[in-house]
Amino acid sequence: MEGCLFCALARGDVDADVLRQGDRVIAFRDIHPQAPVHALVIPREHLTNAADLTHAHAGLLAEMVATAQWVAQAEGVAESGYRLVLNVGADGGQTVGHLHMHVLGGRPMTWPPG
Ligand code: 5GP
Ligand code: ZN
Repeated sequence: MEGCLFCALARGDVDADVLRQGDRVIAFRDIHPQAPVHALVIPREHLTNAADLTHAHAGLLAEMVATAQWVAQAEGVAESGYRLVLNVGADGGQTVGHLHMHVLGGRPMTWPPG
């Protein structure tokens, strides 16, 4: 999508610290990490957020989760635990309008979130 930061990143037009690249999904480090491990998993396809997901995206969503699991293993937090977050819209705290799954770990997370 024209003007979308994460579409540009997926095309390789914006630099990123990429952890894993697949045909449909990419994982890269968040530029402002909120935990020792903070990666984002995005689809190459432009979807605004989780509200755009339908049953037709079941395979894509499973691949995003599988990639998050891979990141957790690769970053050494699979055993200690981690948090997967999908922020949706303004009150959800979403700041980039391209679907992304946060993978956060390496410290204990608190609840409720801020
Ligand atoms: P949101 O607040 O939309 O759920 O998360 C967007 C995330 O994207 C934020 O954690 C922010 O730090 C990250 N981010 C924003 N711009 C860039 C960028 O250019 N590169 C990378 N790697 N992360 C970014
Ligand atoms: Zn996009």
